[in-house]
Amino acid sequence: MRIRRIVVTGGAGFLGSHLCDRLVTAGHDVICVDNFFTSQKNNIAHLLGRPNFELIRHDITHPLWLEVDEIYNLACPAAPGHYQYNPIKTMKTSVLGAINLLGMARRCRAKILQASTSEVYGDPEVHPQVESYRGNVNPIGPRACYDEGKRAAETLFFDYHRMNKLNIRVVRIFNTYGPRMHPFDGRVVSNFIRQALGGQDISIFGQGTQTRSFCYVDDLIDGLIAMMNGPDNFYGPVNLGNPNEMSIQLLAETVIKMTGSSSKLVARELPADDPTQRQPDITLAKAKLGWEPKVGLETGLAKTIEYFRALDLDQFRAPTPNF
Ligand code: NAD
Ligand code: UDP
Repeated sequence: MRIRRIVVTGGAGFLGSHLCDRLVTAGHDVICVDNFFTSQKNNIAHLLGRPNFELIRHDITHPLWLEVDEIYNLACPAAPGHYQYNPIKTMKTSVLGAINLLGMARRCRAKILQASTSEVYGDPEVHPQVESYRGNVNPIGPRACYDEGKRAAETLFFDYHRMNKLNIRVVRIFNTYGPRMHPFDGRVVSNFIRQALGGQDISIFGQGTQTRSFCYVDDLIDGLIAMMNGPDNFYGPVNLGNPNEMSIQLLAETVIKMTGSSSKLVARELPADDPTQRQPDITLAKAKLGWEPKVGLETGLAKTIEYFRALDLDQFRAPTPNF
């Protein structure tokens, strides 16, 4: 294997820390760049003594000067409560962050991967979502800072590719869960597990009939690495997710059953522009990368519940009041 110098922005976050683990274990020189807005050092503390791991506290809205071979751009608040806390900053992170990292990739001739999202499809009218679907995003709603920021970042990636022949990779990630999700990120899996283990009410937004398709983190990391190392002329965008679609009500019932909790399901107001359905079509990822998820929901949830059971919640600072 050729050892590469690899930057992971957002490397202390949920997905980023798992990606750093895999790249460090593979023997690469890994630089984790993070401003710790929605994460804490605990996710990467175990890597700090490793000779091929380096941590830089840095905000990607400011330029960064490093010499590297590959860049994974994961830095961005991802939970609705986090990205809506300071929507202007969220847009800056997506757009200015992309410009700074694409500039670095151009200077170093590095390969660069963008963590885009299923949110580029908005509240989709095409189901399941295929990459050719252009989406149904409300450009002025509360989710727009994230959705439109990620769409603009995709535009920048493809313009840098066309203008500067940059070697880009764009992946559209669908709902992913697993150990190291922040317990106070307000996302549905972390909320339901924390509430069930704490004997609190389970907060179902709206009727609970809206659907999502949940991918276990290990599968997703396989997909990110497969895309970075994939065919030379395959730039994406490519969907990465688990097509196993389910209602939020069914997810809540499954978590209650698996935790043995006596928590009750309680209806809460549905947030504006909450997508009614979401399921990835992963035909393209299968064909081009030979990738598909392997971990079933119950197996993945069992590992996530085990992680949350062992957590000391007092060690966690809620990144925003929205959880
Ligand atoms: P996360 O919040 O756990 O991780 C994001 C990381 O980026 C955090 O460590 C945060 O501190 C850091 N960050 C935020 N703004 C930054 C900035 N300006 N400069 C430097 N660091 C900054 O979220 P995650 O779930 O690990 O998501 C990682 C990436 O994957 C995000 O870009 C997200 O949009 C994308 N994504 C995730 C999912 C999912 O289900 N987890 C779905 C779609 C897309
Ligand atoms: N949701 C919920 N209760 C919660 C958190 C989320 O019912 O405590 C719902 C939310 O309205 C959405 C789905 O679960 O329909 C997924 O929410 P999440 O914030 O995890 O991610 P999204 O896919 O909306 O970005």
